[in-house]
Amino acid sequence: MITEPHLADNFGRRFPYLRLSVTDVCNFSCSYCLPDGYKKTGCESFLEQKEIVRLVRAFAALGVWKIRLTGGEPTVRPDFIQIAQRVASVQGIKKLAFTTNGYKLPERAQSYYDAGLRAINISIDSLRPDQFKAITGHDRLEEILDGIDACYDAGFKSVKINTVLLKGLNDAELESFIDFVQDKALSLRFIELMRTRDNQKYFEEHHLPGTAVTERLLARGWHLKPREEGAGPAQEFAHKDSMGSIGLIAPYSKDFCKSCNRLRMSAKGALHLCLFGEGGYSVRHLLQSDDQQEELQEKIMALMNFKKSAHFLHDNNSGVRDHLASIGG
Ligand code: SAM
Ligand code: SF4
Repeated sequence: MITEPHLADNFGRRFPYLRLSVTDVCNFSCSYCLPDGYKKTGCESFLEQKEIVRLVRAFAALGVWKIRLTGGEPTVRPDFIQIAQRVASVQGIKKLAFTTNGYKLPERAQSYYDAGLRAINISIDSLRPDQFKAITGHDRLEEILDGIDACYDAGFKSVKINTVLLKGLNDAELESFIDFVQDKALSLRFIELMRTRDNQKYFEEHHLPGTAVTERLLARGWHLKPREEGAGPAQEFAHKDSMGSIGLIAPYSKDFCKSCNRLRMSAKGALHLCLFGEGGYSVRHLLQSDDQQEELQEKIMALMNFKKSAHFLHDNNSGVRDHLASIGG
């Protein structure tokens, strides 16, 4: 019997999906992520295009078919379009997605689509301009909402909104968010605020359990959709009168890690087996020549043995991540 190549860990989980960070830099200053904005470290040596292509080729040969470009803010890279074009054309990559804060989206949506990007996740933490500005440091809500229409006009079929649940900041908007997807074919994802090394106090003040969303959705007649084969850890809800759907990503919930289907690469070439895992395993030295492809694939497969069954957030362990801008969420 011929089996398709695939990456798997010691717990029977498969990994067809790679989140690839292309920069740590960001132009926003979200209060839970980079409250003081991105600070230069002096060693901004992010993966170059040829390194990215070698990396993606190796993962594709191991069965990865979905890539998400992320950051920091991936679109601040001047060569973001070229990166997307090159990744999209790697043999075996069937879906290229990206996560963005939506900066200049109305004027850029078409170029993103034309580059081969087919799925976009846009972060919108408030539908109130003043609150949006307070959270992100930018008065750009209107532009970003216009950007959603621009994405549909450009040809995107998959447009998702990411909303981090923030007690005392946007929880009063839960109903507005649910109404927002009523007449749009959008998928909105509520994400539980995750603790990082930089946001401990903020976390204590603003963390809201995902159950707050579940309770509201169920009370309003939404239902939990059955989990699809191979789906990631989000719980998906639907309502017969809503064109859009709502998802919940609740990393503190029981069994969250059981459906983990993704790996992460930092912008400096380290493989992270878990969003909250240890520092990451650098494979950058194996991205320096086309001749290293076999060695790179072997290294990636060997590293899968270190993937643990679950994160340790419940033990108050935030991992060693300072903030998610260094690994892309
Ligand atoms: N800059 C892009 C953006 O904001 O969409 C991509 C990178 S950002 C790190 C990816 C996602 O992680 C965003 O949706 C963001 O809201 C989310 N995020 C960042 N820090 C987080 C935290 N501490 N807890 C939960 N989600 C977080
Ligand atoms: Fe930047 Fe995204 Fe972090 Fe906001 S969440 S500061 S947009 S990386």
